[in-house]
Amino acid sequence: MKKKLLSMALVAMMVAAMFSACGKKESTGMTVNDGVLTMATNAYFPPYEYYEGEEIVGIDADIAKAIADKLGLELKIEDMEFDSIITAVQTGKADMGLAGMTVTDERKQSVNFSDSYATGIQVVIVTEDSDIATVDDLAGKKIGVQLATTGDIYSKDDFGEENVEEYNKGADAVMALKQGKVDAVIIDNEPAKSFVKANEGLKILDTEYVTEDYAAALNKDNTELLDAVNKALAELKEDGTLQSIIDKYIPAE
Ligand code: GLN
Repeated sequence: MKKKLLSMALVAMMVAAMFSACGKKESTGMTVNDGVLTMATNAYFPPYEYYEGEEIVGIDADIAKAIADKLGLELKIEDMEFDSIITAVQTGKADMGLAGMTVTDERKQSVNFSDSYATGIQVVIVTEDSDIATVDDLAGKKIGVQLATTGDIYSKDDFGEENVEEYNKGADAVMALKQGKVDAVIIDNEPAKSFVKANEGLKILDTEYVTEDYAAALNKDNTELLDAVNKALAELKEDGTLQSIIDKYIPAE
């Protein structure tokens, strides 16, 4: 009886292996669908990802393209709410989340993170005439954030849920600040800079809120892809490609 069960299990495993081999490419050692590396992102996060006409461009888009090239894969970018990226990676809808995403212990429960490729800083945007001068002055103020980002998570912890207004896009939080619906916006420094540049009457506080690491999010089961992405990232760091991509989008001040 035991033997029979064992052989049935073996057959099941073989069938499963045959099916999973269909339509997948494993020439580079990792499993992705049909030679396409699908990247999930939220394309409202300049200069990491944003629309230029119909096309999604930015630091993450260029890095993903360079990684895909190294792995001999075609890159496809899927734009979605920031909040959906981790689920997309978990369910296999996307192979990789690349979205200026901060490595956190909580997210590590759901996905694997690659080595870090950039540093992010949570900063505070206020209106030029604001009486808020430091992070401490935020106590009791209304804070606008982008839903499910670290700015959202940390500010709810530090300043109370009732003081935090969540918006789907960073730009919507910034608009609310301009309209006086919130007193400050907490968001990553590079998007903050481009929002302040695009909108008059805003400034970024000198005091920084939190410093964090950005990395690619990958499916927990696809450790081959994790290794391949880390190897590609290491090469891109080594040969200066990564720095030149960053310099292209973040001009030296
Ligand atoms: N770095 C922030 C986070 O990971 C925001 C990322 C984003 O909005 N794209 O939560």
